[in-house]
Amino acid sequence: MIETVVSIDLPVGERMEIRKNRHVPINQNAPLPRINIVTGTHGDELEGQYVCYRINQILSQHPEHLSGIVDIYPALNPLGVDSITRGIPRFDLDMNRIFPGDAQGTTEELIAWQIIQDMKTAQMTVDIHASNIFLREIPQVRVNVNTADTLVPLAKELNCDFIWVHAAATVLESTLAHALNSVGSPCLVVEMGVGMRITKTYGERLVAGLLNLMKRLGIWTGPTEPVTLPIVSTDGKVGFVNAGASGIFVPEVEHWNNLHKDQLLGRIIDPTSGTTLEELTSPCDGLLFTLREYPVVNPGSLIARVLEVEMPQNKESTHD
Ligand SMILES: [Zn+2]
Repeated sequence: MIETVVSIDLPVGERMEIRKNRHVPINQNAPLPRINIVTGTHGDELEGQYVCYRINQILSQHPEHLSGIVDIYPALNPLGVDSITRGIPRFDLDMNRIFPGDAQGTTEELIAWQIIQDMKTAQMTVDIHASNIFLREIPQVRVNVNTADTLVPLAKELNCDFIWVHAAATVLESTLAHALNSVGSPCLVVEMGVGMRITKTYGERLVAGLLNLMKRLGIWTGPTEPVTLPIVSTDGKVGFVNAGASGIFVPEVEHWNNLHKDQLLGRIIDPTSGTTLEELTSPCDGLLFTLREYPVVNPGSLIARVLEVEMPQNKESTHD
C-alpha cells in the first residue's frame, strides 16, 4: 500500500511528495515489529533503488512470509532523485544535514521533522547510501561508537563485507541516522557502490542481508541465505590515501583486494605530456574498501581507504 509521508506545496503550483510502500502481514496481531528501508536522501545515489525494487517485489510475491511491517521509502529526496542532484534542488541543501528538523522551522526543516515522526516508531531503520560519483565503496555498514554495542550485532546480519565503527566526533549530528538513534530508534547506515550507478551484485547481497535482518527481528519467516561475516573495524585501523598532484588517476589494483604495504594502487598521469606525476601506494597491509572512481583529481582528493588487517600466512590452512 503506497502512502504519502510528506506533502509540501512548492512555488509555481508544484507539490513535493515523499512516499513509502507499506507491507503488512495478512494476519495482523498487534503490536507488530517494523523495519524502515530508506534510500534516496542524496539524489545522486541510486544503488538503493534496486534494493527497494527487489524487496518490494519479494514481499509482494510472498506476503505469507511476512510477520511484521516493512516500510520502504525509495526517495527521501524525490526532487533530487528526479533531477540527479545530490541535495534538495530548490534549496541547494544536503538533506542529510537538516535532521531532526523542526515543526515550526523552514520548509526543509518541516520536511525533515515529518520524516522523523513517521519513522521513529520502527524497531529498525536501514538507510542505504551509495557513496558519490567520485568513490566506489564495497558494501559496508557504518556505526557510531556510542551505539556500537546495540547496532554492531544487527549490522552483522546485513551481508556486508565490513562494519566501520566511527568515533563519535566524526559522526555528523544532523544526519537521519543520528536523529533516529538519538530518540532510541535504531538506525544502520549502509554505504555501497558508486554514485549515479547501480551495481546489481551489491544490491542482491544487501537484499539477502535485509531479509536476514528481518528474520532476526521477527518480520520475515521466509527463506534466507547464509550471509558474509563482516570484519568489524574502528577508525584507527583505516589508512587514507590522498592525491598529491593534479591529473588523471588510473588505478592499478582491483577493489576489495588484499594489499601489501607500499603496493602500487595507481598513478596520477598527465595526458598532455605523457608523464606520470605521482605513484600512489598502500599505507599498510590490508583490504582496499574505497577506491577512486572518478579520474580527475587534485591535491587532497581521496584516492583510497585501506582497512588495516594482518594478511593470513596460509589461507589453505583455514579449510581443515
Ligand atoms: Zn549519501
